[in-house]
Amino acid sequence: MRKTIIVSNRLPVKIQEQDGAYVLQTSEGGLATGLGSIYREGNNIWIGWPGQFIDEKKQQDKITTQLRQMNLLPVFLTEDEINSYYEGFCNETLWPVFHYMSVYARYVESNWDAYYQVNQKFRDKVLSVAEPGDTIWIHDYQLLLLPGMLRAEMPEISIGFFQHIPFPSFELFRLIPWRAEILEGMLGADLMGFHTFDDTRHFLDAVARLLPAQTSANVVSFNDRAIVVETFPMGIDEKKYATLGMDPEVKSNMAQLQEAFKTEKMILSIDRLDYTKGILQRLEAFEQLLELYPQYVAQVVLYMIVVPSRDTVPQYKQLREDIDQKVGHINARFRTLNWHPVQYFYRSFPVEMLSALYNFADICLVTPMRDGMNLVSKEYVASRINNDGVLILSEMAGASKELVDAIIVNPNNVGAMREAIVEAIKMPLEEQQRRMKLMRQLVAKFNINHWVELFMTRLKEVNAMQQKML
Ligand code: UDP
Repeated sequence: MRKTIIVSNRLPVKIQEQDGAYVLQTSEGGLATGLGSIYREGNNIWIGWPGQFIDEKKQQDKITTQLRQMNLLPVFLTEDEINSYYEGFCNETLWPVFHYMSVYARYVESNWDAYYQVNQKFRDKVLSVAEPGDTIWIHDYQLLLLPGMLRAEMPEISIGFFQHIPFPSFELFRLIPWRAEILEGMLGADLMGFHTFDDTRHFLDAVARLLPAQTSANVVSFNDRAIVVETFPMGIDEKKYATLGMDPEVKSNMAQLQEAFKTEKMILSIDRLDYTKGILQRLEAFEQLLELYPQYVAQVVLYMIVVPSRDTVPQYKQLREDIDQKVGHINARFRTLNWHPVQYFYRSFPVEMLSALYNFADICLVTPMRDGMNLVSKEYVASRINNDGVLILSEMAGASKELVDAIIVNPNNVGAMREAIVEAIKMPLEEQQRRMKLMRQLVAKFNINHWVELFMTRLKEVNAMQQKML
């Protein structure tokens, strides 16, 4: 029987050590939910790293057996591999360049070597289960070389690739010393997907300039193969957020928020710690708001969650310190006896608390300097079942191409963000509802299941087209 193989850096489970034993925790992320409908079926399978260093062969075998029952196949990575391939090449080279922050990028040959070798490790794992007629769907920037490596071994197999982060304009991409190898690796796929038309266009542009390839509209001819490049904006598990408001725990959290913030308007901000998220600029805009509009002192709060991430990387550590300092400064400057302007949390929260906040907040302020899609903005919209609330959204987030009824801002323009907050505070209910309703319809229709189906259907069509061309 033909099967589908999903491949991503991380499996949708996490192995955690508890009292000397390993326990499995399933992920509740949107992608895991959307792809659940695929990998759980029949003999389909998801291949990836389980998120824990397990060097002992006996333990590895035990965990592999356990995961196989859930249609999962682990690739075990060592601490050295994670340091050089993941932290090194993925997070210190590809991440900054692809997010237009090339000043943070490091180009280290040994990290590139590790990236190549880990992609080979994934290739071998895929080859251990792949059979002619199977379909392989590879995800994201950790595995850019994998499509090409698999194509070399199985020329006929169907391969889809989706990149979840932006693809930068050529002037950025060309900075990477291994740029041609990266493109050749990606072009091993039959169908390439990106979140926005700009990403798609940038990819096609890079291919045309760097490789002996022909591009015509969205089709690349390379090595006697036709590769289709298209835009598939990813959606969320919309129903989950639309219904979570009925959950008793969410309701109880909302009651507590109501009690704590009886009169204030709440501005919500949720991100992972990352220099791409524009957190400092957002704080600056909020400080200007309190400075220039003193009538809002004690009338608004910025409820800011920053989820710890990569904080061993020096730039992230520095960013964390800068945020601490800025929050401290704003609170010290404007606080009153029983009001703190910034409610800052450096930790992650369970979805029951996130949902309560999405339901409760009057304004959601999402202002990344660059973001492939941004799911927080869509989760806020999906949660607003009464159609009230205002989304302020950066034009540099992929989501801004779809959520056009948000207040769209340039995150480099602190003054514009400040004025957007004023506009949001003052926005009449009818206008909030008009905008939110349109955005909710969009988020409901183009949800994660729609995205998965669209990509898989398109991949089949592309394979059929390739057959005809032979
Ligand atoms: N999130 C979470 N725990 C938290 C805060 C956020 O699991 O405490 C989730 C949030 O619901 C969203 C994801 O983290 O689904 C962030 O996705 P986004 O695309 O906004 O940014 P990314 O972190 O992928 O760059």
